Formats: sequence, C-alpha cells, structure tokens
Amino acid sequence: MKLKISYILPLFLFALAACNNKKEMNSSTNDNEIVFPKGEKITNDNFTGTAYLQMLIAADSLNATAVGNVTFEPGARTKWHSHPGGQILLVTDGVGYYQEKGQPKKILRKGDAIKCPPNVPHWHGASTDTAFVQLAVTNNDKGTVVWLEEVTDAVYNSSNQ
Ligand code: MN
Repeated sequence: MKLKISYILPLFLFALAACNNKKEMNSSTNDNEIVFPKGEKITNDNFTGTAYLQMLIAADSLNATAVGNVTFEPGARTKWHSHPGGQILLVTDGVGYYQEKGQPKKILRKGDAIKCPPNVPHWHGASTDTAFVQLAVTNNDKGTVVWLEEVTDAVYNSSNQ
C-alpha cells in the first residue's frame, strides 16, 4: 500500500502541476492580446476608416517626444502627413502598411520597427483584412504633425504607388 502511494502521489502532483501550467499559459496569452489601452475612437478627419488613439506620453518642455498607441481597423489609415522631427513606429499587433511619397508600400507586421525621416510625406494604417496596432513615437521638438491630402483607395490598394 505504501509503495502504491509513493508511485501515485508524484504522478498526481505532476498532473496537477501540468494543469496549473496550462491555465497560466492561457491566462498569459489573454493578457498579451492588448498591451496598451486601445483608447478612444478618432473622430477628426485626419484618418480614413475607423481608428483608435490612446496617448501614453505627452511631449513637454523637458522631453518633446510624444508616444501614442494607435489601433487601425482593417482598411483604416492616416492621411498623408509629415513630422518635422521624424517619427518611429513600433508594431505591437496585426498587419499594416507604411508608405513614403514616391516609394513602394511596405508591409509591417507585429515586431517591426521603422523610422520615418523628418519632413518626408508618408502614411500608415491597417492592411485590407487585418487590424494593425502601432506605437507612434514622435519627436515634436521642431513642430507637430503636418497633415496633407487623403490616401485614396487607388493608392491604398496599389502595391507600388
Ligand atoms: Mn506618421
């Protein structure tokens, strides 16, 4: 009898531990779905489609860098625009596009990090069928974003315009 328990107890504990591990993994996966808050729906006309913004860091007199979490639903994108001090985009989820004027459209995926040079007109947004979440790190030292024209459906859907 003693022998049996000494076999069964470790097996039981192992099974229990395995169950707990599985629960932890599931719970951690759920927690990772949203890293930063989605924020509020953007209602200004600088975006096409549905997008959300949560400002995380405001620029101030000591550090002119602003950080915002932007979530684009499929098909949503910014207008063409430029940043006097440039911008860095860190992709935290989904699939999106980034395009500089006169350059091919680039596909961005979770984990990608890119730098938009100062004063170069560009746009960014979700791909046609997948949402896109990016942290926009913007240096406002030399001024804030300059908004330009809308990204037409033809440009948005083109692979190289
Ligand atoms: Mn930008």
